[in-house]
Order: sequence, then structure tokens, then C-alpha cells
Amino acid sequence: MKKLIVLAVIFSQLFAQHKDKPKHSSLMERKYTIEKLQMGDVGPVRIVQLYADGFEKLSLKEKVFTYYLYQSAIAARDISIDQRHRDALEIRELMEALYTHPKGIDKKSYENIVLYTKLFWVNNSQYDNITSRKFVMQGSFEEFVANVNTAVKNGAKISLNKGETLTQKLERLQRAIFDKTFEPVHTNKTPGEDMIAGSANNLYDGTTFAEVEAWAKAGKEKNPLNSKVVKENGQLVEKIYRTGNKHLGGTIPAGMYAEDLQVAISYLEKAKAYASTPLQAENLGKLIKFYQTGDLNDWRDYNIGWVKETESQVDMIHGFIEVYLDARGAKGQFESVVNFANPELTELFQKVGTNAQYFEDRMPWDAQYKKSDVKPLKYTVINVVVETGDAGPVSAIGINLPNEQDVREQYGSKSVTLYNIVDAYDKTGGKDILKEFAFDAQEVERADKYASLADNMHTALHEVLGHASGKISPNLKVDPQAALPGYYSTLEEARADLVALYHIWDPKLVEIGIISNTMETMKAMYDKEVRNAGLVQLQRVPKGHDQLEEDHMKNRQMNVHWLWKNADCIEQVQKDGKTFFRVTDYEKMRVGVGKLLAEIQRIKSEGDLAAAKLLIDTYGFKIDTTLRDEVLQRMEKLDRAVYTGFVMPKLEPVKDKKGNITDVKTAYPLDLAKQMLEYSAFTKREKEKAKAILSK
Ligand SMILES: [Zn+2]
Repeated sequence: MKKLIVLAVIFSQLFAQHKDKPKHSSLMERKYTIEKLQMGDVGPVRIVQLYADGFEKLSLKEKVFTYYLYQSAIAARDISIDQRHRDALEIRELMEALYTHPKGIDKKSYENIVLYTKLFWVNNSQYDNITSRKFVMQGSFEEFVANVNTAVKNGAKISLNKGETLTQKLERLQRAIFDKTFEPVHTNKTPGEDMIAGSANNLYDGTTFAEVEAWAKAGKEKNPLNSKVVKENGQLVEKIYRTGNKHLGGTIPAGMYAEDLQVAISYLEKAKAYASTPLQAENLGKLIKFYQTGDLNDWRDYNIGWVKETESQVDMIHGFIEVYLDARGAKGQFESVVNFANPELTELFQKVGTNAQYFEDRMPWDAQYKKSDVKPLKYTVINVVVETGDAGPVSAIGINLPNEQDVREQYGSKSVTLYNIVDAYDKTGGKDILKEFAFDAQEVERADKYASLADNMHTALHEVLGHASGKISPNLKVDPQAALPGYYSTLEEARADLVALYHIWDPKLVEIGIISNTMETMKAMYDKEVRNAGLVQLQRVPKGHDQLEEDHMKNRQMNVHWLWKNADCIEQVQKDGKTFFRVTDYEKMRVGVGKLLAEIQRIKSEGDLAAAKLLIDTYGFKIDTTLRDEVLQRMEKLDRAVYTGFVMPKLEPVKDKKGNITDVKTAYPLDLAKQMLEYSAFTKREKEKAKAILSK
């Protein structure tokens, strides 16, 4: 479960207290923002270079290990692009062909191509990841066809289906690229609409929500997480992502995306030899087995091992993990995050995890939903080396895994804060947005002093305590995710946020030496939550839209609007012709937070779908469009970005004459296109090799 960046701009000075001062002057001159993209109602999107400081301090063994994991992460990324839309990989190939063959294309046309292609790269498809709405190519289709023909004449290679001409192919893709009204919504959770038939993603094909639910209830859904459900000859069929093991003499046939997974496997195998601990090597073996069998029991096995492995400095997330893309909340999108720990910061924040039972005992909910045996939680402050698939170029700031409830309850979970991502946000955000939307100078001053620590604590408490807390009622026979289709993700994120807001009051945090002033840190956290949910996040909802789609945005608005209407602690006020949201009573707000948190825990524990619907549809769904218009107008003169796409560090091996790796260096391309084209070329090349292995 991941916590998305709230807003780059309000992440002021996160970790400032613990940050090393740059010693080298070149660090000061570093470029973070590369460019800003805007097209119609998409953006502005900030493109930022990510830096992996500290990588050079790893041992050679760790560096080589990281390098192979990095390649494995890139290898399987096309799976997630295919999951986002059935035509996405074909569209990407077309756009990359156009992008790399500008000759003979007029200037305006080429600008349109560049903009569309970059936004496509950042979003891994033609759907905006915040609004869930499709964006389309500017200019006419006829012009586009002419440009593709020009590119082909100049050497661009475009693959064709058997028996299909280039013209036929372009006509087949026309609506996906040009028609905004065709399959307009990526993940459709609008009440009353069909969340499967009405969603444009590629997780299901030719079916409806009612059909899938009936089929699942009949016990036919075996591998919900790593499969696609397709209607064939009137029957629903589960198509599993796996390589099979026939090439190894086994009996399991290959499934979806066998070649991509085989490339990933080949790099995981190379990495295995460089693992830091025997358990880490064993776990990679388990992950490889899972990609071969596609059996979720093997995935569970891997996850258990992954949670237990807490020694090594380099770690990885790799698999079909988060379910946000699926309105039904069942199918995982492929993602990978390769990272290494920052030992000093980890030690500091690990203290929250060590005291998890203390906080669980003090949760505001009914005793029957409290855990009495909270497993020690592993909390790590990490630096990202690469994020692919669902994890990048748009990144989370905190991650808590695994998502499987039973594994979490028995074995615990691992939480991370993505330090270099947060740091990059900090370096690129504008202080002017805080000034514009804070009610008074006192709020600005408090944010200046305490917001970084408050943000930091918010992420830690959300990930370490939030997602890991609470117990399911014995009356609930299924996973809460299955009991709350369309509502689970929003509810779970709301729960984790409220845990952070609730426990920031606790003097224990001072006692264990993480913060020095609970009251001021708490106030800064509450101010920001209210300011953000009430006003600032509305900038991410473009004109013409009147509802929220992204789970974290919905959960934030739901929490704050519920408190505003029910807890007598927040007010909406006018000052100098502008609207503000402010906390009027912090103590009452904490009482309200406790009350709402207790109810949300009850809903999750009991799987109370009617109550979840009522809460989220009432408070978290529709926005105040007049207020949104005002926010956008006030934002106009500010350096805002709706979200950020990261250019990842590049790892380059240094080899001796015999071809042995003697070092691995980081390089920073400062160029989104260059990186994306390299990734595509790498996957294409490697897949050919995998084909040969699988056909043995
Ligand atoms: Zn979360």
C-alpha cells in the first residue's frame, strides 16, 4: 500500500533536521526540474531528475546485486503498460517511432507528438494517473497518418499484425489516440456505473462487474492478483502471468507475458549470486518460482521470506502488487522498486516500529479489533535506484507491504520512506503555495518550523502503524478487500492517515526521541491536512471534472469534510475575497479523528459495504467546483505542478579486460526521452533472448 505524494509544493523541507549539508559545491548546482509539461486539462507535470546519493558507499557486491535487480525491474515494465490499456504498447511503439524520426514532420505537428509522447511515458499510457481520464493527441488524424508514413519512409520500424496494413493499424488505433469520448475513464468507481465494463484498463476483457462477481463467488477465481479475466465463448477465463516451466521439463504451460517475465528471471538469477544474506538469495529463488508457476501460494511463500529478511542494505519490490488500477481492487499491476537503505535515518525512525504494540493498545477503536501480538515492524528510510511499472516515473513517498492480510497478521510487514524522492520534491516545490493558502502568518511560521517533521511523522505513522494495525472480525469470512469492492482502497488509506493524525499527539514520540514538541508538530500536521484536502489538492481536478478518482485524494477529502461537518473543529472562511480552510479547535479535531477512525476500523473489520459507501460517497467523491475554480485561479501565478514524473538514475557497470564488473557508477541523464527510449530498446532486445530460452 502506498502513500502518494500529496503535492510536491507543500512538502517543505521534509527531513530538513536530519539532512546532510551538501559538502561539495557541485551538489548545490544540481538540476532537479528538467521541464514542465501541460496539454489541455493534463498537468502541469513536472519532470524531475532523481539522484541516488550514497550508492557509491555500497560494497562492490551490493552494487553488482543492485545493478542486476535494476535490469530485472526494467525488464518487466511493459507488462504494466499493457495492463493499463490493451493498445498502450502499440501506441508507445508508434509514438517512439515518430519521436525518433522528426525529419519531414512540420514543427507544430512534431511539438504535438513530443508532448503527447512525454505525457504517455510519464503515465505509462494515454490515461492521466490523477484524474483517471484519457488525454488525446492534438492535431488531426489525417496529419498523424501522413506523419507516420513520413517516419516510416525515413526508416522508422512499426510492427504490424498478420494480414494488417499500416493504414488499417492506424485506423484501428484512431479512437484510442484521438477520441476523448471513447473509453474515457481508466478506473471507474463512479457510483451506479459498471466498474469493470466502464473502466478502460486491460485487467478484464468483454465482461461486467456483475458477471465477474458471480464468477468469483462461485469459487472460480483462483489467481485474482496476477491474471487477466477474459470472456471466451461465453465463459470467463483467468489468464495468468507466468513463464510456465515446460522449458525446464515441467508441465505448466506458459501464460501471459512469458517473455518479459523470463527476462526478469534471468536478471534475478544473476542477482542471486550477489545477495547479501542466504535468506535473500533463497527469496529470489522463490520469486523466480512464482513467475514460473503463477501460483499465488508461491507468491505468499516469497512474501513471507521477504518480510523476514531485514538484514541486507539493498532491497527490492518486484511483482503484481498494488490494486489501485482495478476498480474492483483485485488485480495487481506490475511494479518494481530497487533501493538501498540510509542506515542513520532508519535507526531513528525504526523506533516507531519497535513501539508498535504501545500504539496499537491506544488505538481509538473497539477492543475486539485490536491486535494483542503486533509483530515488530521493519521501517527503513531508503533511497530509490529505479522505479518501474506502477511505481514510476510517478512515485509514491512511502510504501508498506505485503498487501496480503493474512501474511501481515502472521509475519508483519515492511515499511519504507522514499528519502531521495521526498528530497527531490522538497527541492522543486514552491513555498509560495503555502503562503497563498495558509490562513495567517502564524500558520506559515508553524509550517516553516514544523511541517517537514510533521510530514515525516505522517508518512512514518501512516505506513508503520496505520496499514499494519487493526484486526478483522471473526465474522468476516473473506478478505476485507473482497468485501468492499470499489471502496476498500479509499477506506484503507483514510484509516492509515487517521492513525497518523491520532497518534501524533502521543508524548511517547518525545520520549523515544523522534520529536521534541508534540503540540506544534501536531498543529502543523493538522493545518496541512485541512489546507490540502480543503483547498490545495483541488488544483489536481481539471475544469470540466466534478469528482475525485484517485484513492488518496478521495480519502483525504473524506476525512477532512467529515470532520468539518461533524466534529466542530474546522471552518471555511473568507478573507480578502479568498476562501480558506482552517482548524478552529485542535483538541476537538483529535476527538473527531478518533471517532471517525473507530468507525472506519469497524467498517473494515466487519466488511460493512453499505457504511463504506455512505461515508465515501457523501464526503469523498464530489468536489466543490466553484472552490476548485477559485483554487486554480489563485494558483495561476504560482510555480505549481499537479504531479511529478521522475527521470531515474542510470546504473553503468565498469568492467575489466576480462569482462568482470569492477564497479557500478550512477549517471543522471536529465532527459526523460533518452531514458524511456533506452528502456524500450533494452526490453525489445532482451525479449528476443528470452524467446529462445522459452522455446527450448
Ligand atoms: Zn497508504
